[in-house]
Order: sequence, then structure tokens, then C-alpha cells
Amino acid sequence: MTQTLANTDTAAEAKSPTYERTPTELMPALGDCALLLDIDGTLLDMAPTPREVWVPPELATALGRLLQLTNGALALVSGRSINDIDLIFAPMQFPAVGGHGAEMRLTPDNESVASHAPPLDKELKRRLAAIAKLSPGILLEDKGYSLALHYRLAPHAEKAIYDAVSAIRADLPNAPIEVLPGKFVCEIKHAGFTKATGVIELMTHAPFTGRRPVFLGDDVTDESVFAIMPGMKGLAFSVGRHALGVDGHFSDPDEVRAWLVKLVAGVKS
Ligand SMILES: [Mg+2]
Repeated sequence: MTQTLANTDTAAEAKSPTYERTPTELMPALGDCALLLDIDGTLLDMAPTPREVWVPPELATALGRLLQLTNGALALVSGRSINDIDLIFAPMQFPAVGGHGAEMRLTPDNESVASHAPPLDKELKRRLAAIAKLSPGILLEDKGYSLALHYRLAPHAEKAIYDAVSAIRADLPNAPIEVLPGKFVCEIKHAGFTKATGVIELMTHAPFTGRRPVFLGDDVTDESVFAIMPGMKGLAFSVGRHALGVDGHFSDPDEVRAWLVKLVAGVKS
């Protein structure tokens, strides 16, 4: 068995449900909605390493137009830092919730604001970083607000990684940290903020406030946002895996990109 923990975490995974209406049919007018989009595995195909992701030109064009058509109410919502997001989409910049809610930027050219957490403790980072030595192919990514151990290139090391993280946590029972399992990644971050807390705060600011949020995400960490959409009169769409309680589903990032291009063109299907 080389299945990932993320994939075996089926608590919030639905079995291929059918939806009465398509995302296109459900969508409010662009002038009334806030488009909130996860990046990796939602807009972009997963790559062997986080640095190797690629932004197709038609996606960049569509996002730029959607930012205009929503009067600025489009935000990228990611575990990546906003600095990292800007490198990926350069030269374009977008409003964003970065670092799983640790930082936020309301307009494309503003400074990032609302940092809710200091960077992870250095000693803790040092101990977590040593886990990367368990096997060749484990990639360590220091995101500042969090630390990620990627094992897409070493899937056999999954259990050893989570065991080692558990041992460190047992050693530091009072450390305010939490572990986020993802797709071939084990991420450790400060407790107390999530993508959901970031989205809730974002939606209190212009131009997002008063609009219906529409969130697309693919991973375990996106479930906190799926869960708050009904209370915000929003829509939640999962990508790839079928998450419970969402309003619809896209099979992969390719389908998401095609849908966004259609939204720009105003084509109903
Ligand atoms: Mg994702």
C-alpha cells in the first residue's frame, strides 16, 4: 500500500455524488460574486516539486479578465506565501490569502497585510527539517509561516515522516502547532488560523464584502473553506476528490481552467 494519508482520509470524502445543477448554472453574475481560488491542484496541475508548477497563458489571461469582471473581487487562496504566489504568476499579481490564512492582500498591488502568526520557531523548524534526511526524495520547503515536507518523489517514506512528526509533537505538547496532511505533503504550521479564517476576514473587506463567495479547492486544507460557504451564502466546488457538502465538482485543473475561460466569454453550458 502506497496510498497517501490524504487519500485515506475519507471522513469528508463523498462517493461520486451527482449534482442537480452544473457550476455554470449555479454561478451568480460575476458582478455579484467573489471568486476565491486555491492554486495547486485546482488552477494548476500538480508538479513533481512545488517549484515546477506552470501557469498556462490562457489561465493567466482568464484570471486577469475575471479580476476586472468582478471589480477586483478575485483572490487566490493558498498554503503558499504571497511572495511565492507572485513568483508563480509573475508578472501578474492578484489579491490573495497566503500561508493558509497567515497573510492577506486585498488588491493586486497592495503590500501583504494581516500577518496572524510569527514564523515557526527556529528550533522546531530545525528538528522538523531533520526529517527530510529520512529518505532521498523528501523535499523540505520553508514557507516561513509553515514548513512542508514533500514526499511525492519518496511515497514509501510517508509513514516514517508522520511518525517522526508525531514524535516531535509528543516532545512539545504545548507548542501551538498543527499538522496538515496534503497530497504527498506533510505540512506543519501554527495553530489558530486556517484558509477559512483567512477567507472570513477577506470577505469583511471591500471589494469582497457583500458578495457571494465562490470557492474552488482540491485538498484536505480546503475543507475548512467548503464548510463555511453555506453560512456565507457561498458556493463550494471541489476539484479531483469529491468533498462532502459541496455544491459541485470539477474532475481536474484542466476542467477548472476551461470553465474559467468560459466564464470570461460569458458562455453558458
Ligand atoms: Mg490545492
